[in-house]
Formats: sequence, structure tokens, C-alpha cells
Amino acid sequence: MPNSPTGSSGDRLALLLARLDRVKRVGVDRYEALCPAHDDRRQSLSVTAADDRILLKCHAGCETKEVVSKIALQMSDLFLEKRRSEVIPPAGRRSEVVYRYEDETGRLLFEVVRLPGKTFRQRRPHPNDPTRRVPNLHGVTRVLYGLPKLLYPSRSVPSG
Ligand SMILES: [Zn+2]
Repeated sequence: MPNSPTGSSGDRLALLLARLDRVKRVGVDRYEALCPAHDDRRQSLSVTAADDRILLKCHAGCETKEVVSKIALQMSDLFLEKRRSEVIPPAGRRSEVVYRYEDETGRLLFEVVRLPGKTFRQRRPHPNDPTRRVPNLHGVTRVLYGLPKLLYPSRSVPSG
């Protein structure tokens, strides 16, 4: 029995690229190759690894499903395992932006984390351990972003 793909973008991408001809890397997670769905001589096919899928684009106009069927893959092979997005990566491993929502005294109430791919996550400090986060907003007072600065624009707000 063959090994099933693990679902990581690297493995899926490698599988796809291995079936294309004259693959050329043109950027971070971007490749060009000969389109298998038409008589291609100039690498018309763009392959881009996005956050949760692999994007294929033939500049001669072939449909993506035509392209994947020519290399014995299915449309579902372009999508990465959905479960992957439920895993919260360790802090700092990926580029993420954290928006802190504080009460009028500058105390952290909750955070909204923006992950690559415009995914947003909400989390609140753990009641017993402020270094940990709980991935929901149960019992949290919703406030405007930047509330302390809105209330006291001239006062410096303690951070931390
Ligand atoms: Zn094509």
C-alpha cells in the first residue's frame, strides 16, 4: 500500500511538481511548468502554494480540472488537510499579528490574532496563568480596539 500524503503543503506540492515537466522556480512557493493539458512550449502553467491549497493557472486558458486530470491527480489533491488550520502554531513560528484589546486601565481582556491568509483567532488570558491563552472569549467584556488610548489620548498607557 502506498504511503498516503501527510497533507502538508510541501508534500502535496512536491507530488504535483514531480508530475510536471520543465518546472522552474520563480518565487517563494511559486513555480512555472509546461502545461500538461495543451501543447505547451513555454511553461504556461503557474503553480502557487497558498495557505490551504495549491493554485494552478494555465495562461493559455486550460481549466484547472483538465490540468490535474492530465497528471492523474484530482482537484482534492490541491487542497491541504482542513485539520491543519485547527492547530495553533507555537508563538513566533509563523508571521502573526496580535491585536490586544484592553480595558480602560490597560489590562489585557482578550487578543485577536491575525494569521497568514487573513485568518483571525480570538483568545483570552488564562484566568489562573496570565502567560497562557484560552482560545475563546467566554465571559470576556468586548471592548473597542485601543480603548485606553481612546479614553485617555494624552496619557501614556502601560503595556504588558
Ligand atoms: Zn494549458
